[in-house]
Amino acid sequence: MAKVAFIGLGNMGGPMAINLVKAGHAVTAFDLSAAALAQVKAEGAAVAATAIEAVKGAEFIISMLPAGKHVLGLYLGEQGVAAHISKDALVIDCSTIDADSARKVGAGLAAQGIAFIDAPVSGGVGGAKAGTLTFIVGGEAAHFERAKTVLGNMGKNLFHAGAVGAGQVAKICNNMLLSILMVGTSEALQMGVDNGLDPKVLSDIMLKSSGRNWTLELYNPCPDVMENVPSSNGYQGGFMVDLMAKDLGLALEAAMQSNSSTPMGALARSLYVAHQRAGNGKLDFSSIFKLFAKTN
Ligand code: NAD
Repeated sequence: MAKVAFIGLGNMGGPMAINLVKAGHAVTAFDLSAAALAQVKAEGAAVAATAIEAVKGAEFIISMLPAGKHVLGLYLGEQGVAAHISKDALVIDCSTIDADSARKVGAGLAAQGIAFIDAPVSGGVGGAKAGTLTFIVGGEAAHFERAKTVLGNMGKNLFHAGAVGAGQVAKICNNMLLSILMVGTSEALQMGVDNGLDPKVLSDIMLKSSGRNWTLELYNPCPDVMENVPSSNGYQGGFMVDLMAKDLGLALEAAMQSNSSTPMGALARSLYVAHQRAGNGKLDFSSIFKLFAKTN
């Protein structure tokens, strides 16, 4: 069992750290929020007063923070923990951040002789609690192999996408495609309804036809077509519009840097940001269906 420092114990990091404790690892946690720390302490984690205290002597340092600036600040900036990390340790950043920041952190740590991988996740809060997350890793193959010791206790599917930063790129490619599928499925379903079709019948037809996709199979956005999905529960739970809008912003930043043409991704981001600004940020991302639905 390993000695693990876990920094960032929010909706995702909290349950991930608890799963490591349950697997028998010695976890020392740090978060700026006392309430977040109290939750993991109650489950058996040790808590540190500072990030520096948390990382001292740790074999694995895992971070789960909101955005690139927090990750840069933690490792290379104002929190300055790098100097206190053991040279034998592996740093694993699980936050969803821009690939450029991930590469900067990787290079900054490498310059001090410290190994780093980016390992963003898919699976949401439900997956974090159940220990069934998918990890998409960027970094050296040997570091990926080593990380399995801890990632395997928090997730079920572990992918090696390529060099440092590749995990972030793969994740936003997937989420950009998912948003496009969700918007397209929503407009097709509503057009069918507007022309007198039953959305359940239309969904069944498209599921056996060439329009078949993940949203129709597992996450139908039209209310009451499918049980146990956010659309049949007032769009509560699931993956928030705020987070999809964030990920689409990261996708477009990456597209600008690589000079990639992503017209569908750009449109999906615009639609999600408009939907967010209309007050739907905390709803599940399938609520984009409401943009097309007839309300009177
Ligand atoms: P969250 O806001 O619930 O948690 C972030 C935590 O980080 C907070 O507890 C905050 O106090 C702490 N924090 C911020 N700056 C810190 C610092 N400098 N030092 C120590 N602690 C600090 O966010 P979340 O939902 O847990 O998401 C975390 C990351 O996971 C994000 O990058 C998000 O995009 C990604 N993600 C979230 C989901 C989801 O469904 N929530 C799914 C996949 C990926």
